[in-house]
Amino acid sequence: MKIIKIETHVCHARMRNWIFVKVLTDQDGLFGWGEATLEWHTRAVVGAVEDLSQLLIGEDPTRPEHLWQIMFRQHFWHGSGIVRATAIAGIDIALWDILGKVAGLPCSKLFGGPVRDYVRTYCHLGGGRMEDFYETAVDEAKRFGDLACQAVADGFTAFKSMAVPPTQPIEGLKPIRAAEAAVRAMREAVGESIDIMVDCHARPSPAMGLKFAHALEPYGLYFLEEPCWPESVDGLAAINAAVSTPIATGERVTNLASFRDLFAARACEICQLDLTHCGGFTEARRVAALAEAYRIALAPHNPQGPVSTAASLEFGFSQPSYIICETVHADVPWRQDVVQEGFTVEKVGRIVRPNTKPGLGITINEAEVKKHPFQQELLQRVTYKDGSVGDW
Ligand SMILES: [Mg+2]
Repeated sequence: MKIIKIETHVCHARMRNWIFVKVLTDQDGLFGWGEATLEWHTRAVVGAVEDLSQLLIGEDPTRPEHLWQIMFRQHFWHGSGIVRATAIAGIDIALWDILGKVAGLPCSKLFGGPVRDYVRTYCHLGGGRMEDFYETAVDEAKRFGDLACQAVADGFTAFKSMAVPPTQPIEGLKPIRAAEAAVRAMREAVGESIDIMVDCHARPSPAMGLKFAHALEPYGLYFLEEPCWPESVDGLAAINAAVSTPIATGERVTNLASFRDLFAARACEICQLDLTHCGGFTEARRVAALAEAYRIALAPHNPQGPVSTAASLEFGFSQPSYIICETVHADVPWRQDVVQEGFTVEKVGRIVRPNTKPGLGITINEAEVKKHPFQQELLQRVTYKDGSVGDW
């Protein structure tokens, strides 16, 4: 069996261009789907997939580990930068989809699963609708409460918000009080049986992250995400040590050695590896094994498209320490037209029952994808009051 072609199919989904990767084989009708979405870097990833495909044409697709080694180690430059790690991931996920189809088994069973009966999911405030999640101002506390109620009405038992504003390296009480008010409004709106997460988007400095973490501690967050830059491993470790709120990070970490540094410093309690950015299932399984040694939980980053979600779920059904799957369901109204999924979502509690179809269990409707060709993603520029550049 040989790989004969690797294609990218770009689907513009408002905030992101989903990059679907299709690996075709010389066997009639046998192909695999992966995803390599990297917002604002779509052209670069599409080019990287094309570059990598030169190494893989003619190779046996049922050897994903071997092909991962080829993609990561050849030629000379290791594949740990975000663009190439994402391209490798898209191809790697598609190879495992093929392997599952050849074996007649869901990917989770190839990995030794299933280890649980269902996977719990969480949503973004507003279901991932760009304006609700990213553009609700932190001083609109009531709006946070209203959107929180909506998430619960939609069946979710957990949701994530962006209740921490962009701040300069040191600021006074105002942003802290605004974040507190937003989180208090959500907690008061939904009670204590619902899990609330706050994503800081790595906006704060370690010093500001520590202040936010202390201020939000009384509200019992399920986790506090990226309270400072992922590069500030010591800052993350200091925050994680200072509060009982579990610190989550890892969505921008692309390789095993960097995860080792994060875990060894105890810089998080929850690892948010992104299957589409850290080299696909092949590298993610190594990261998960390493996390297991530290008893660090897994909650993969997944605000991307439907292939990424299917991959995250297959991973979740095979990993004992996987706690919850990130989902967006209202980013574009035609999401379900693009994909047919093998798993089922129960409306009450938004839990997912396992896929029983081979591989990822998904079918991508290529005609629907073609209706949404590439468009430049909306540029997101953050500047502080004085005109200096901030983090989005
Ligand atoms: Mg995040």
